[in-house]
Amino acid sequence: MYQDLENKVAVITGASKGIGTAIAERFGKEKMKVVVNYHSDETGAQETVAIIKENGGDGIAVQADVETEEGNQLLLNQAIDKFGDLDLWVNNAGMENSHETHELSLEDWNKVINVNLTGVFLGAKTALAYFVEKNKKGNIINMSSVHQQIPWPTFAHYAASKGGVKLFTETIAMEYAEKNIRVNNIGPGAINTPINAKKFADPEQLAATTAMVPMKKIGEPEEVAAAAAWLASAESSYVTGITLFVDGGMTLYPAFQDGKG
Ligand code: NAD
Repeated sequence: MYQDLENKVAVITGASKGIGTAIAERFGKEKMKVVVNYHSDETGAQETVAIIKENGGDGIAVQADVETEEGNQLLLNQAIDKFGDLDLWVNNAGMENSHETHELSLEDWNKVINVNLTGVFLGAKTALAYFVEKNKKGNIINMSSVHQQIPWPTFAHYAASKGGVKLFTETIAMEYAEKNIRVNNIGPGAINTPINAKKFADPEQLAATTAMVPMKKIGEPEEVAAAAAWLASAESSYVTGITLFVDGGMTLYPAFQDGKG
């Protein structure tokens, strides 16, 4: 546990399930105050809040669409109204779907870019505006992916969105460094969450994905949450603009693992 995190106020987008929930629960253990954003799964968000409280922290569930400025502003307002401040913003919400690119509709392209990239921009902008106005030290964590670096056929819109998040993060990390605002990415590999439930339920697809991971196992959301807690804490006080891959080595060219080639 990181003692400096106690009573710090965080917004986490897309926190009614998966990685967002795991981060919220971990922040509960850190005794933080958490705005748990959800899009449509209110029950999941309320369950997450209950676990945060059981873990020793505090939380509220807030419905908002990260694709909109109003949605992001509402999350900030709720953090201030309920907990009096904002210290950390985690842009976690994301989505994916698979289409061959010559058949990818503009609608599907726009939707994935809007949630995964524009949503990150709007969340970061909202948090930055608050930190700058208050002249306070701030912290932003964006959930990117190994696919900010690894091309992914039939997921061109997803890969483009995460590649965009990488350079967006690096740019604003530099832009706000002198203002004492740190901005970092987490790049998960293959993690056991609802986004992958169908894929990992199929033994063949599970084996194919596992084979691409040098550690030969799928990651757990708690392992991503541990990275978020470290980036949130003062233990990472001199770290900004990085992507912390949590991927069992997936970004290390696993095809070379047997020493041939
Ligand atoms: P998930 O599907 O379990 O959770 C995604 C969350 O985002 C959901 O709660 C969903 O409701 C929310 N969301 C989607 N659109 C939204 C919107 N417009 N407004 C608010 N919330 C919205 O997926 P996950 O695996 O927990 O993924 C979390 C993040 O991690 C995503 O950004 C994803 O791209 C990234 N990621 C996941 C993996 C993995 O293997 N699971 C790997 C790399 C990156």
